[in-house]
Amino acid sequence: MALLVQKFGGTSVGDLERIQRVAEKVKGFREQGHDIVVVVSAMGGETNRLVDLATTIQPHPTPREMDVILSTGEQVTIALLSMALNKIGCPARSYTGSQVAITTDSAFNKARIKHIDTRNIRQDLDKGRVVVVAGFQGKDAEGNITTLGRGGSDTTAVALAAALSADECQIYTDVDGVYTTDPRVVEGARRLDKVTFEEMLEMASQGSKVLQIRAVEFAGKYNVNLRVLHTFQEGPGTLITLEEDYAMESPVVSGIAFNRDEAKLTIKGVPHIPGVASRILGPVSRANIEVDMIVQNVGEDQTTDFTFTVHRNDYDRAMEVVGAIAEELGARRYDGNSRIAKVSIVGVGMRSHAGVATRMFEALAAEGINIEIISTSEIKVSVVIAEKYLELAVRALHSTFELDQEPVETKDV
Ligand code: ADP
Ligand code: ASP
Ligand code: MG
Repeated sequence: MALLVQKFGGTSVGDLERIQRVAEKVKGFREQGHDIVVVVSAMGGETNRLVDLATTIQPHPTPREMDVILSTGEQVTIALLSMALNKIGCPARSYTGSQVAITTDSAFNKARIKHIDTRNIRQDLDKGRVVVVAGFQGKDAEGNITTLGRGGSDTTAVALAAALSADECQIYTDVDGVYTTDPRVVEGARRLDKVTFEEMLEMASQGSKVLQIRAVEFAGKYNVNLRVLHTFQEGPGTLITLEEDYAMESPVVSGIAFNRDEAKLTIKGVPHIPGVASRILGPVSRANIEVDMIVQNVGEDQTTDFTFTVHRNDYDRAMEVVGAIAEELGARRYDGNSRIAKVSIVGVGMRSHAGVATRMFEALAAEGINIEIISTSEIKVSVVIAEKYLELAVRALHSTFELDQEPVETKDV
């Protein structure tokens, strides 16, 4: 007997047939005696459809109204899944985020969960019901509907698991676990039995969308047992775990993440004087544009070249802001490129191994790939390259770090 939170993503509930298969699966767990809280996403493609509807009316709708429309996708799925469960004799009740109640801050489109009232859920569980909760949504202190950012149903599931002290939070999706890299891009990608919270956090933040970043943050903070599994195939999936549980000799690189959502902007030949970085980035952040990587380089003529990256969706707006700043600062010129991609190698083993970045750079050079920006952290090296080389780069790095091969088992002594 365990309390399980099971989250089913968009493709897993993509049509009525799948919803009914998910209902059968959940019923199976219930019959084993487990208490089940299910979190569901909108049916696959539905959230994008809602975004299109909204932006056809108004290119930049107010974030509040955007959340009102976006939250409807999950509301449809909770009702359908509960009906499918009731139909097969498995009593179930659905709840929207605000009915639960999941309270968030008021940052529409990217709200953070502040508090979860578990009383309704507990009462239903005590009555032997399966509780079906809409992922990705909550309400703020004023009762406004909020959403948690794309992919946010993962976070709902982990937050519920933490609030309910569930035995495990199971993320069911269309792959059978977390892979060394996106299995849709590299054929030789391998499923990992375990990955540490820290590695998963870096992989998620560098573009592996198999789990939303905040879900991993939450799971790490509240020590939630988190597992990624395939909805319609049996298997152990991938356990997200603490580093101490890992073998001593963890692989140097555990995974490769990438994302195509970046664009870079460069201002060249600005005077090398104090305050330049803030004069450039101040207006960018006031325009509500998030900056990812930043590089500054001082030339011999005592001027500075300043490069930073933003989300590709913000590129045009960022170019406008940069154009104005460049003029104000008397820069030599400015330019930008939205056809770039970022590739990152991630692994806790990097802490204890030297030369990892060099191996990465050599592998890219051997393929004739130029590196435009480099950034590192303790367990990650990221490079920005031309987008057209992305897949080549990921494949080359995957084989350089021998990720297609089973790691040798090592035991602590
Ligand atoms: P869901 O709709 O179930 O939330 P997502 O599409 O958000 O599913 O996430 C699953 C997808 O994540 C997979 O289909 C896969 O293409 C992608 N993905 C990216 N990186 C990885 C990785 N390292 N391991 C597994 N899947 C990955
Ligand atoms: N439906 C939302 C999205 O497509 C949330 C989720 O699926 O996790 O982003
Ligand atoms: Mg997802």
